[in-house]
Amino acid sequence: MAETKVLVVEDESSIREMLGFTLQTAGMQVLEAPNAEQGWQLALSHQPNIILLDWMLPGVPGVSLLARLKANDKLRHIPVIMLTARAEESDQVQGFETGADDYVTKPFSPRALLARIQALLRRLDDGNTADSLQAGRMLLDSQSHRVSIDGVEVKLGPKE
Ligand code: CA
Repeated sequence: MAETKVLVVEDESSIREMLGFTLQTAGMQVLEAPNAEQGWQLALSHQPNIILLDWMLPGVPGVSLLARLKANDKLRHIPVIMLTARAEESDQVQGFETGADDYVTKPFSPRALLARIQALLRRLDDGNTADSLQAGRMLLDSQSHRVSIDGVEVKLGPKE
């Protein structure tokens, strides 16, 4: 199976670096864009498997890029997780109505986000279940020895 390509559209370089490190450590290829326009170009040219999209971007907001992605025949199938400091319900509703697949509120743990990415990709690729055990809302990943519920990692001990 080809390496999972993750596009991170986020203007805060510290968050991009943190996510880049976490995702690369998990064996994923990471593409980074600091704004919506570069994110759009990278999505078009690289066809990533999943997009992490910050809501608050300079210039064009993340939700506008989301709408643009979902209006494009070649890109609308790509799952999108919105990253946002906004916790208001109305913003989440707007994000989901625009086509977001999941929603993570800052500050977040990169490992919890990684678990959500993996859960989302697994849901979309249900032929690939040999390395995980799903029991209702709980998911046991036998490769990473992690347990998650609804895609959110459950802390089983101190940070590795
Ligand atoms: Ca931002």
